[in-house]
Amino acid sequence: MITPEKPELAEVLEVKQETSDTKTFTVRFENPKRQKKFFFVPGKFMMVTIFGFGEIPLSISSSPYKTGFMSFTVVNVGNVTNAMHSLKKGDQLGLRGPFGNGFPMQRFRKKNILFVCGGCGIAPLRSAIYAVREKKEEFGKVELMFGCKNPQSILFSQEMDQWGKQGISVQTTVDKPSPKWAGNIGVVTSLFKNSVLSPENTVALLCGPPVMIHFALIELRKKGFKDRQMFASLERMMQCGVGYCSHCNIGNRYACIDGPIFNAAELKELPVKEE
Ligand SMILES: Cc1cc2nc3c(=O)[nH]c(=O)nc-3n(C[C@H](O)[C@H](O)[C@H](O)COP(=O)(O)OP(=O)(O)OC[C@H]3O[C@@H](n4cnc5c(N)ncnc54)[C@H](O)[C@@H]3O)c2cc1C
Repeated sequence: MITPEKPELAEVLEVKQETSDTKTFTVRFENPKRQKKFFFVPGKFMMVTIFGFGEIPLSISSSPYKTGFMSFTVVNVGNVTNAMHSLKKGDQLGLRGPFGNGFPMQRFRKKNILFVCGGCGIAPLRSAIYAVREKKEEFGKVELMFGCKNPQSILFSQEMDQWGKQGISVQTTVDKPSPKWAGNIGVVTSLFKNSVLSPENTVALLCGPPVMIHFALIELRKKGFKDRQMFASLERMMQCGVGYCSHCNIGNRYACIDGPIFNAAELKELPVKEE
């Protein structure tokens, strides 16, 4: 039986304020040997302890090819995330993991990739975007479609400019524009009409609020995507991360070990409304 491990000490290397409620934390294990052998695939998550407050699951938002550190992009929504937001460079935290299945990146080779994300859902996809960008020759065309509440809540806008220059087609849209906003307005699915990717040789990677995933899957099916070509992250309350505590149990699966990434065919078999 797999039992939960103890958190290992890590230190904060950098904290970046991304938007009013979101920060990116760059961290590394204090034990250099542990950091050196640390490896993950995009879509995997860590259990992060903020001492005195608790432990939460967070997706790794940095590149899997940058091995000296890892990043988390965190929205301040409650008790633990609020405490994490007060961490500064040099502070300590605890890490367990990586956990979860991650995106099956090997199966995406030679395929076009469509990233569809909403809000902080870009965090785990950012890691996959880096992976695809760093092995450009292994993949086809790449499109990123990103929906946010308003222009102030757009994450990683400078990086998106870079990704655009590196051949990724990046499109953003907002629900509520500001007076200066000259870009797209509407939900992320309103961008799908602009996609030049043929569904036959494309996989779609989705992360965002359940309602976004629900409608995005419906619209992608209309475009001709099959269920096995669409992968979404199903984030569930979880505590142990190793299938031990049953907090993230869905039907006969656990989001922490069988997921959090499921393809749309698998989602249909779970007792959840596609989310
Ligand atoms: C696999 C996975 C990956 C995640 N990756 C990220 C990430 O990269 N960035 C990020 O900002 N957040 C991520 N989350 C969500 C994050 O874990 C929660 O926001 C966090 O646990 C909230 O803890 P809290 O103590 O601050 O909030 P609480 O005070 O516990 O609650 C505040 C709100 O957050 C909701 N919430 C609490 N725990 C969870 C949970 N485990 N999952 C989802 N919602 C929860 C509650 O329903 C409540 O509405 C991820 C969740 C999972 C399961």
